[in-house]
Amino acid sequence: MSIENDVPDSAESETIVEEPISGTNETGSVHSRQLAIPKSVQPIKIDQHQLIFIVFLHILALLAFIPWFYSLTGFLTGIVSIFVFAMMGINIGYHRLLTHGGFSCPKWFEHTLALLGLCMLQGSPARWVAIHRLHHKYSDEQADPHSPFVSAYWGHIGWLFVRNREFYEVNNFERYVRDLLRDPFYLMLEQNLLWFWIYCLHALLFFAGGYALGWYETGTLDGSVQMGFSLLVWGVFVRTIFVWHCTWAVNSFSHLWGYQNYKTSDNSRNNWLVSLFAHGEGWHNNHHAEQMSASHGHLWYEFDLTWWVIWSLEKVGLVKNVVRPRCWKAYQESR
Ligand SMILES: [Zn+2]
Ligand SMILES: [Zn+2]
Repeated sequence: MSIENDVPDSAESETIVEEPISGTNETGSVHSRQLAIPKSVQPIKIDQHQLIFIVFLHILALLAFIPWFYSLTGFLTGIVSIFVFAMMGINIGYHRLLTHGGFSCPKWFEHTLALLGLCMLQGSPARWVAIHRLHHKYSDEQADPHSPFVSAYWGHIGWLFVRNREFYEVNNFERYVRDLLRDPFYLMLEQNLLWFWIYCLHALLFFAGGYALGWYETGTLDGSVQMGFSLLVWGVFVRTIFVWHCTWAVNSFSHLWGYQNYKTSDNSRNNWLVSLFAHGEGWHNNHHAEQMSASHGHLWYEFDLTWWVIWSLEKVGLVKNVVRPRCWKAYQESR
């Protein structure tokens, strides 16, 4: 099936849906459809590198259960790094800016956000954006790369273990992200797995920073090595695995459970639990209805921490042309 001409290759594209559901929100999951896996995955071929690496990193994160790797500094570093790399890098950088163009900013700041996103090991910016644009275009249809209507397991993690011809190499997915790849910076990241080596380098820096801190505090080799590993395990491995599952929960949980403010053509849902852990990304029905909106929370109780960071960046003049939900404008105009 050729989908070349149907998929947006620009962040300007947006499929605006659907009238708001007035009055009370619909709750629960109503879908009972069963989807086949995407044709671009058939016949199934295991992506051995990805499978081994995902399993291996989960095992490394389990080191957190060994007390020797724990320190309060390491734990707090892990918490802070969730906000820095996941919220700034993935939510603001990869998702709301690069995929959907929800605001504009200077190139140096855009590239900084992309580099932060790289440190979550969710793939290169161009590949992430390509997969996500295809998800929006074919949401909860067979061509959706990760619909949970194949199975909840598939939507959450299973799709990552198999080779999808659409996304295996940059030549396969460049047509979805031509706007990005016009920038040599993103093209460079695709070459020689540079995006992956940047992740490894940042992990090494966490260890080195912990080592230096341990040396400063204890003056011993043992203390330095222990603090280095503590920052590596908590600040990198645990954080990466935690955020992976939060991101994957947006794909799976937020297409299965929650309420809808909008009648979209898919089964996207607003899920408060996912929003809590993914800093607003769980207001996914709102997001599918208005993809360019930089705020995923539309109603007053839909708290979206990522939005408030964008709002703050706008206030200090770092970002501009911030797209707001239509219902906010309608509300302001009615006053
Ligand atoms: Zn979705
Ligand atoms: Zn999106």
